[in-house]
Amino acid sequence: MKVGLVEKPGSLRVMEREAPKIQKPDDVLIAVKRVGICGSDMHIFHGKNPFATYPRVWGHEFVGEVIEAGAEAGVAVGDHVVAEPISYCGTCYACKQGRGNVCTQLKVLGVHVDGGCQQFVVLPSKQVHKIAADIPWDTACLIEPFTIGAQSCLRGAVRPGDVVLIYGAGTIGLTILQNAKLAGAITIITDLVDDKLAFAASIGADYTINAKNENTYDRVMEITNGMGANVTIDAVCTKQSFEDAVKVTSAAGRVVEMSFNETPSNIAAFELTKKELDVRGSRLQTNRFPTVIDAFNQHQLKLDGFITAIYPISRMEEAFAYVDANGATVRKVLIDMETE
Ligand SMILES: [Zn+2]
Ligand SMILES: [Zn+2]
Repeated sequence: MKVGLVEKPGSLRVMEREAPKIQKPDDVLIAVKRVGICGSDMHIFHGKNPFATYPRVWGHEFVGEVIEAGAEAGVAVGDHVVAEPISYCGTCYACKQGRGNVCTQLKVLGVHVDGGCQQFVVLPSKQVHKIAADIPWDTACLIEPFTIGAQSCLRGAVRPGDVVLIYGAGTIGLTILQNAKLAGAITIITDLVDDKLAFAASIGADYTINAKNENTYDRVMEITNGMGANVTIDAVCTKQSFEDAVKVTSAAGRVVEMSFNETPSNIAAFELTKKELDVRGSRLQTNRFPTVIDAFNQHQLKLDGFITAIYPISRMEEAFAYVDANGATVRKVLIDMETE
């Protein structure tokens, strides 16, 4: 079978490897159909992911068809499935709170262990979720990114009628937007690129702000009659965006951070106390797959235009180069594992 590797930072390679076999009764052998390239895969490629080790089969966003299933796997041959890329210990403090996404022993497919860019993969059944067979493979590959948006809305405790401000109309910002809309929120989204804001508006953003031309704080206060956003979700992830988020969020509101930025932000404790703000991190996802799969199965999301390009596995290097060259406008680039 063909396998796509990041051999070491800056070096990609497609190679032949023996296909894996089922070992345990809850194992599932999957013929991988599509793999999505994520910003974090680009970080692994560029040697900027502190958790990655090399060489690594990349890919944490992938879907495929069950080829063989162990007796206790709970899925059947022919089922269409999406992979849940995280595994965790189940016994540490975070796991006991039902938050395996921040487990001390967390392992992410394609980061700590080999991922989905291989034509066949074996996963334990708890990392395999069945999806409706009428969802096209390309579309199904968006399920994992949408779980990331769902997690940030969960962490922000987004409720119907809440004003949700999203910093950044990139792929993650767009998945947050749609999850917030599903939850019944009024959404405001910012970016520096008009085309990205236009796309956000076309899939349901109630207000868009180009932060290059407009003052985000002033616009949000105008839209909300001085209240501020009830939930601010930061997918821009700079020192400044965290500071701005705290200022623009309303009393009793929530600030959700998705940043791995290590530069300290200047935030006065007073801002948090005065408004009794909750500041929460959002990392990966926990138990979001069933909810997001439901939304996909019931066609509740606007997914047209999300896929920017699809490359066969043999042209994997070109796909990465394309993402590098078009970072500002790429939404999702996929690798087609069926076509060599
Ligand atoms: Zn991703
Ligand atoms: Zn744990």
